[in-house]
Amino acid sequence: MVFLLALLSLTSFAAPSRVTSDCYDNTFCIDTESKEDRVDVFVRSLVEWEITMTLDVESSNLTPSIELPTVKSVSAKRVSRLLTLEIEDKNAGWSFGFNVKWILGDFTAEHKRGIAYDLPYSEGQEFLVGQGYMGNATHQGKYALDWDMPEGTPVLAARGGMVVDMEESFTEGRPDADLMTKANYVKIRHSDGTIGNYVHLKHKGVKVFIGQQVDAGDVIGFSGNTGFTTGPHLHFEVYSATRELGRRTIPVEFNTNRRGAILLKEGQYYGR
Ligand SMILES: [Zn+2]
Repeated sequence: MVFLLALLSLTSFAAPSRVTSDCYDNTFCIDTESKEDRVDVFVRSLVEWEITMTLDVESSNLTPSIELPTVKSVSAKRVSRLLTLEIEDKNAGWSFGFNVKWILGDFTAEHKRGIAYDLPYSEGQEFLVGQGYMGNATHQGKYALDWDMPEGTPVLAARGGMVVDMEESFTEGRPDADLMTKANYVKIRHSDGTIGNYVHLKHKGVKVFIGQQVDAGDVIGFSGNTGFTTGPHLHFEVYSATRELGRRTIPVEFNTNRRGAILLKEGQYYGR
């Protein structure tokens, strides 16, 4: 989800070095340092994973050092310079405000080649892929998979990584556009910067916390039927952020009990 953030506005005459800090969603802060001739603008990450952000600046009597808006991949727990605003007339007041949007994930992430994912359910179980990659129902243009499974089925991490987001407060599910953004989910950041997204989980059915490191095969929650659905199933996709603050989904192979590591097909059952 993209977050639109409030415009911060400051007006000041040149003064001895002055620092301001505005933090968003416990995820990152925009820090500014005003000097005699310029304002340096930094982004400081508060989290252990990457985000992609866009920044635009509205200002008067200041010249930005780079073309705006700018897109930046912000690394875990790092401070990096975004730009400098040069003061044009040092005898006059100046002002600036930021317009910031952000999304989880690194738009420069590349999926590791040759990696095979584990089926996200217990050994000995097999489930039908009710909708496959680019499926006609709701996966147009998306490399996403739906496994039909009864509510309450343990959902296992298909690949290890860090839990970077989760939601378990929603209770309802049906094919209703109003529920499009009301599914419970877990997002796991993989070591290559891609994100695995496990969707439609049961109400209060998440068993991991944000920041937790999980291994492939760990139980992360229980399947459900929340959000926009036509019946109980698990939706799964691997994606990376894009420069436009969207998602680019990625086709991945799964280890199966009978056929080894393969791309799964709609209408087939796969056992783990
Ligand atoms: Zn789906």
